[in-house]
Amino acid sequence: MATTHKTRMLIIGSGPAGLSAAIYGARAGMQPIVVQGLQPGGQLTITTDVENYPGFRDVIQGPWLMQEMQAQAEHVGTRMMWDTILEVSLDGSPFRAIGDSGDVYEGDVLVIATGAQAKWLGVPGEVEFSGKGVSACATCDGFFYRGKKVVVIGGGNTAVEEALYLTNHSPDVTLIHRRDSLRAEKILQDRLFAHPNVKVLWNKAVESFSGDLGGGGLQAVELVDTVTGEKSSLATDGAFVAIGHAPATELFKGKLELDESGYIVVQPGTPTTAIPGVFACGDVMDHTYRQAVTAAGTGCMAALDAERFLAELDFAAHQAEAAE
Ligand code: FAD
Ligand code: NAP
Repeated sequence: MATTHKTRMLIIGSGPAGLSAAIYGARAGMQPIVVQGLQPGGQLTITTDVENYPGFRDVIQGPWLMQEMQAQAEHVGTRMMWDTILEVSLDGSPFRAIGDSGDVYEGDVLVIATGAQAKWLGVPGEVEFSGKGVSACATCDGFFYRGKKVVVIGGGNTAVEEALYLTNHSPDVTLIHRRDSLRAEKILQDRLFAHPNVKVLWNKAVESFSGDLGGGGLQAVELVDTVTGEKSSLATDGAFVAIGHAPATELFKGKLELDESGYIVVQPGTPTTAIPGVFACGDVMDHTYRQAVTAAGTGCMAALDAERFLAELDFAAHQAEAAE
């Protein structure tokens, strides 16, 4: 039978943003419920080495970090729910969400931390070599390719920024694009073309990734010319797929303002949406930084703002009661 779960603070998403909001929310007495979704722990659970999350001298593993974050959230009083939200109602507090299980979740405040997913090419070898040479995040993994040869696939701002970032580590960066012109802003293109470590391969699509799954990792990308159909192979140590990200905001279409790429619009520098009591944090509202530490930071901000919102709500209710 379906159950209704009530809480002061309902959090959708269990990545670094949702769990950080939960840790702060629980310690502030908001008894948060976190609905975990299909990827408990979020994006970091599909990576291996994490070397840029503060607090750890040695390389740590993404899944381990997320287990620790969840354990910390539970330790201070968070209830974790194994469910995925299919529908939300944002017509004022309490906010309602209906899960795949049929259960209903009601929160006096709602924190949206549903994250984003990198788009992938969907070609052979991509999944197999993920974490063994294929990545979707240069800021996260570029450091592992110091002095090595890398390629970046894509032609938008993300691809050009990733390529330029990788020049900090690699003397040999090749941008592979399926057309003969980039979509990226002119200023970024100018920087890219002027960089001595960068080559651009035009009109080339990646057909597959190849190498040694036994331990050698990625060794080449197999290409096809999109104009002539000619096939070729390019040796590389690392490949960065940079063809965009998709924020998980399907649930909120028509209910919250989304930008042209589908990210939740918040007041700049805050997790505040246009609906009082609804906060958004992490990758779902941030197409610029997209890091675990920034997601955790905005999760903390969402919890602090949620606490203030509830305090004002309680004060108003108290005043109204006193006036009766
Ligand atoms: P996510 O981690 O995306 O979590 C979203 C959560 O929302 C998930 O738990 C999901 O199940 C849940 N959810 C979605 N929809 C629903 C729904 N309808 N109902 C309920 N729950 C829902 N960053 C770093 O700082 N360092 C790194 O080394 C690093 N490496 C990375 C490697 C890879 C392969 C990837 C993909 C990313 C990496 N990142 C790294 C980026 C980092 O993982 C993200 O910036 C961060 O996870 C974003 O956190 P988030 O909480 O906003 O969202
Ligand atoms: P994008 O602008 O949508 O560009 C995606 C690129 O990937 C395009 O060049 C596209 O090729 C290519 N692509 C898509 N699918 C592909 C496939 N299956 N195979 C090969 N190539 C494929 O995405 P983005 O670069 O992530 O940018 C998204 C938004 O964020 C944009 O509005 C962008 O301006 C913004 N952004 C801004 C900054 C900044 O201001 N500094 C930084 C990053 C992102 P085609 O060109 O052929 O379609």
